[in-house]
Amino acid sequence: MFRVLVTDDIDPEVVQLLEGEPELRVDEVPTLPKQELLSRIPEYDAIVGRSATRISEELLREGKRLKVVGRAGVGVDNIALDTATELGIAVINAPAGNTVAVAELFFGAMIGLLRNLPRAMQSMREGKWDRSQLLGSEMKGRTIGIVGVGRIGSEIASRAHAFCMEVVGYDPYISEERFRALRVRRAPSLEALLEEAEILTVHTPLNDDTKGLIGRRELLLLRPGSIVANLARGGIVDDQALLVTLESGHLRGAVLDVYQAEPVAADHPIRRAPNVVLTPHIGASTAEAQRNVAVDVCRAVRDALLHGELSRSINVASDALGDGRWREVQPAMLVAQRAAAVTRAILADQGLRAVRRLGVRCGSALIDAGDLLLAASAIGVLEGVVETDRLNLINARTLAEARGLELSVGESALGHPHAIEVSLSGGMQELAVAGIASPDSSPRLTRIGSFHVDVTPRQTLIVLTNHDVPGVIGRVGTLLGSAGVNIAEYHQARLAQGGEALAAISVDGTAGAPLRRQLLELPDVLTATIVNFGS
Ligand code: NAD
Repeated sequence: MFRVLVTDDIDPEVVQLLEGEPELRVDEVPTLPKQELLSRIPEYDAIVGRSATRISEELLREGKRLKVVGRAGVGVDNIALDTATELGIAVINAPAGNTVAVAELFFGAMIGLLRNLPRAMQSMREGKWDRSQLLGSEMKGRTIGIVGVGRIGSEIASRAHAFCMEVVGYDPYISEERFRALRVRRAPSLEALLEEAEILTVHTPLNDDTKGLIGRRELLLLRPGSIVANLARGGIVDDQALLVTLESGHLRGAVLDVYQAEPVAADHPIRRAPNVVLTPHIGASTAEAQRNVAVDVCRAVRDALLHGELSRSINVASDALGDGRWREVQPAMLVAQRAAAVTRAILADQGLRAVRRLGVRCGSALIDAGDLLLAASAIGVLEGVVETDRLNLINARTLAEARGLELSVGESALGHPHAIEVSLSGGMQELAVAGIASPDSSPRLTRIGSFHVDVTPRQTLIVLTNHDVPGVIGRVGTLLGSAGVNIAEYHQARLAQGGEALAAISVDGTAGAPLRRQLLELPDVLTATIVNFGS
């Protein structure tokens, strides 16, 4: 049974999505004062809210059972994301549900600006009939320049076509085909876009690259009389530079929904700037969008708790895997984790406990999941070694790096599209274990060091090296049998006749140090490693 706290007035009808699950117990509360939330949070496995509830570092650390934080909306500025990642708590947001709301606000506000609607209304309220002062202009035929052609940028593009606009976009991260499919002409550079846009609108995330992306220099590259819109995040367009270019008359006007500092101070000069349509960050504020994001986040929180589905978690290792793909790569994650556990255990038995480098190489069909496979391998290396009750795909890489492990991921040279090779090294020692996770067969380990094996890593794997002489397999089998250990698979490999041989023995249940000691006492057995994989 998982307990979920839902707060910040999420649509109760949507919350039924969670309440309908027999394994979830849901408590709905209004936005709670900080202290009350702190005292209640230890009881919960998940919390779902909007921006009103601050998910601070203190709150996350108090939430001893917390596994998932759900944010009904896009921005996660109210969540201590680094702490959540460190603690292995999934953070899930709902980035897609409000794209239409923002796109529609853009056109509403832009037409408002072009047709002087705020001024027209004001003059009507004042009892005037100012027709001659209110000459507007049309969208049709104008060139709109969209910076960031993602979810919202694309919705704007398709609506701009309906207004018969010329649509140009700049987004270095999306493909030529996508531009073609959206019928957006691709600008080769931001400068090229600025030189031809009459209406410039930004729809990128706010990050180190996009902060101040449209500053004074960029605004001056726009043609005189252009209009600038920012409904994305405050700071992508530099507010101060915008104010100066508006006041100088270089720009015709601006549409703003977001600001560098929110809420905007009552006496902020932007409020009095000429020809601006300003809204108080209401891009996502429609009944439909609120509902959509609540549905998205409740579904994702449910799937994370009940099925361990983390494809929607923004702090999981990989952000590129959708729902279906997440399930497809599960066998590969199992191979990566188990290969890493085997590698670590063999090296530990050879005396190397402080590994320094963890490398994962994956076949062409798995390269998109590389980061996730690296995280799974990090779990394999750390489980049973680090003292944490919350080692998972979210925090494994952070924990590994905190222990001084260098992590790397790349493409495998093994040739098989579903191959995964995990290597660990430290000092002069290095060992690699490889496996294959094909969609049509069970996950297998296929190489341990130089030895080719073929074994399914089920519950426990015993790896022996021995002299390649007759009788060893019989003696090992007899010993395991008399210890009550059932062999599921026994794979023997050797490099050359009479040299060293390696046995990979998959057994049911668990086995421990006493069995290892007995194995090591057998004649011709050189090394023995036992890896219990757990659940
Ligand atoms: P998205 O991730 O779907 O799209 C962002 C696009 O920006 C991507 O295609 C990306 O490739 C592109 N991009 C990133 N860096 C770029 C750069 N340096 N130059 C050009 N393009 C770049 O995001 P989205 O859902 O479309 O959201 C866009 C913005 O709108 C975000 O900042 C989001 O926070 C904001 N937003 C605001 C509101 C609101 O209430 N006003 C509501 C929802 C979203």
